[in-house]
Amino acid sequence: MTDSFKSGFVALIGRPNAGKSTLLNHLVGQKIAIISDKPQTTRNKIVGVLTKPHFQAIFLDTPGIHKPQHKLGQIMVDTALNTLREVDLIYYLVDVTVPFGGGEEYILEKLQKVDTPVFLLLNKIDCLKKTELLPLLDFYRQKREWAEIVPISALSGENLEHLLEATLPYFEEGPQYYPADALTDQPERVLVAELIREKIIVLTHEEVPHSVAVTVEMMERRSENLLYIGATIFVERSSQKAIIIGKNGEMLKKIGAGARREIETLLGDRIYLELWVKVKADWRNSVRNLREFGYDDRE
Ligand code: GDP
Ligand code: MG
Repeated sequence: MTDSFKSGFVALIGRPNAGKSTLLNHLVGQKIAIISDKPQTTRNKIVGVLTKPHFQAIFLDTPGIHKPQHKLGQIMVDTALNTLREVDLIYYLVDVTVPFGGGEEYILEKLQKVDTPVFLLLNKIDCLKKTELLPLLDFYRQKREWAEIVPISALSGENLEHLLEATLPYFEEGPQYYPADALTDQPERVLVAELIREKIIVLTHEEVPHSVAVTVEMMERRSENLLYIGATIFVERSSQKAIIIGKNGEMLKKIGAGARREIETLLGDRIYLELWVKVKADWRNSVRNLREFGYDDRE
């Protein structure tokens, strides 16, 4: 071995909708984090792994940092901050199509509490005129010391090669933590649950999104080419249950069909997917319930 192998951990942060999941998926080359045009769809910390001949990057898709509105929000912020202290580098994504405001101020203030180097990623530059970029760069340069400012498009992949090149100096010589073909270390159940939740959020345009949790109860091989998956969708109110089930069960069928296709792609298996919907009142504000759903990782 002439060249040394490098590895490092990178945390993705930014306001909901900044494009963190899109970037993670693009870098890793497969859909592993859920993406939606509605904020706050990422609750679980999803790890993406990118392995090249001379380095391995491990990405953490942290839940959006934002002013907490309920207990779940507070736990999400705490989790994100602790992650930031442990990684080699932070990618802070800013959506250039959204005017600077309190949300970004809040994150900048939180970032003062960590010493980790920060890359500012000005994302969605595909929506920007060239002349609009320079003033933005000037504006953000004055906000704090950045290890690097990189304008990117997570969606089209523009400038992502450069981003990786700039990232390497922040990695240390180190082991390959994960096998070269690994994309994520999240248990399959978590990924499957996230895919189902994504379908619910995308397909129901109602009150449901912020109060839905999905747990996969069963993953069982029923025959050589059929994997049975049983999952429960938890909502807070029976009105939400009715929305998810839909007229003659049509919405639930759509959710199931959409999720099944993506799970089949993810796992490379034929899937039989069964979904149940249960009402569990006010689960978001009950800490006991949060633990049950695995959202509270502090002990
Ligand atoms: P997250 O909440 O930060 O994880 O954001 P997502 O990755 O879920 O993206 C939120 C929305 O922004 C989705 O509709 C994405 O398709 C869109 N998006 C993300 N990156 C880009 C980009 O570079 N350009 C454009 N035009 N849209 C983007
Ligand atoms: Mg996300």
